[in-house]
Amino acid sequence: GARGLTAANDVSAPNDLSAWWLPFTANRAFKARPRIITRAKDMHYYTPEGKPIIDGSAGLWCVNAGHNRDSIVSAIQAQAAELDFAPAFQFAHGIGFTVASRIAELAPGDLDHVFFCNSGSEAADTAIKIAMAYWHTQGQGQRTRVIGRERGYHGVGFGGISVGGISANRKVFGTLLSGVDHLPHTYNRAEQAFSRGEPEWGAHLADDLERIVALHDASTIAAVIVEPMAGSTGVLPPPKGYLKRLRQICDKFGILLIFDEVITGFGRTGFAFAAERYGVVPDIITFAKGVTSGTVPMGGVIVRKHIHDAFMTGPEHIIELFHGYTYSGHPLACAAALATLDVYRDENLFERTRQLEDKWADAFFTLKGLPNVIDIRTLGLVGAVELSSRPDAVGKRGFEAMERGFHEHGIMVRTTGDTIAVSPPLIVTEDQIGEIVDKIATTIRAVA
Ligand code: PLP
Repeated sequence: GARGLTAANDVSAPNDLSAWWLPFTANRAFKARPRIITRAKDMHYYTPEGKPIIDGSAGLWCVNAGHNRDSIVSAIQAQAAELDFAPAFQFAHGIGFTVASRIAELAPGDLDHVFFCNSGSEAADTAIKIAMAYWHTQGQGQRTRVIGRERGYHGVGFGGISVGGISANRKVFGTLLSGVDHLPHTYNRAEQAFSRGEPEWGAHLADDLERIVALHDASTIAAVIVEPMAGSTGVLPPPKGYLKRLRQICDKFGILLIFDEVITGFGRTGFAFAAERYGVVPDIITFAKGVTSGTVPMGGVIVRKHIHDAFMTGPEHIIELFHGYTYSGHPLACAAALATLDVYRDENLFERTRQLEDKWADAFFTLKGLPNVIDIRTLGLVGAVELSSRPDAVGKRGFEAMERGFHEHGIMVRTTGDTIAVSPPLIVTEDQIGEIVDKIATTIRAVA
């Protein structure tokens, strides 16, 4: 503060890194050895020195169409020049309706109505609020409990961290949403190590919902929220049959099922939504990230017809749901989404992902046998390689792999603890799959 407007605006090579407190970052290590990106195109980032970095993580699992695609860039530019902003409270704009229809078309079953927000965190909180408010419309307002899952990630709002199951994201934030409980996570290394795709073992873990219902009674439970594939916690594909079982138990007790598809949506598992891959129609789907290929923030919640319709009663001038964000359905986000959905359709990127899935898994499994590799998991165009921890420091080997991957081997990957998670843009070529896996192999050897 108190420096006025004198700071130089050299954006490509900033000389003061102190003001920006980076999110989910080891700030001191970063500022000692910065990893700065100045531009991107298709599968690559470029550093200020012009060095290419292959994008092994589609940004943060969001750049599904690849970087700076011409048609998406032009659509955003044109929209900014035409309509920068219009409120979506009591007013609206055409492009918002078009995007909502396109997304509803992609969703399975009668998931027909879309509520927009700006991120995955807002989508999780919105879904939880819609679930609670829905029960209120049904005269069952005591159904407020929400069941999440251990190792679940639903963003960082108070709702999301309450139902989420990552201790570090919850432990220092005081009193969370009251009335939550958690299913057990679905990972068991002894039973599942080195499974390709969905592991055979673990469908029975869904039955724990029966125990939770017996404890709290169904009349207090609004919804269950899970990621079809847990991503942020280290890539945990669902055991075969698990999600169907969860759907059956929810049906038995009239509990709403929410799929958090913020990562799995828009092609990552080879389908528009993982719900389709697993033949399960949830009551609510959350999305974000891939909807705009990461270009402009956008998130949203898709709900089944009967949930939406339950709100459409009472006097016509009364707002049906007291919820929304200034930037819900922002015109720039809508323009980006529309152009992105066109790219997915015109380039068949979801189907392409399905076709590449086996080759991806073949390539990824060549990492088996490298030093410290204790598990490999794959699904769609996602792969994770779990390394054993250094004896003195959990997460250190993973951190070094992320740093060295960037500085020495020209690859960006995400790490969670000692797991390296890989999820390239869906435009990745077979040669680039080979290149990514080679770079990861080199990195794994370097951190042995
Ligand atoms: N839900 C899931 C499943 C996610 O993976 C993420 C982000 O990684 C979120 C929610 C939160 O999204 P955001 O960071 O846009 O708030």
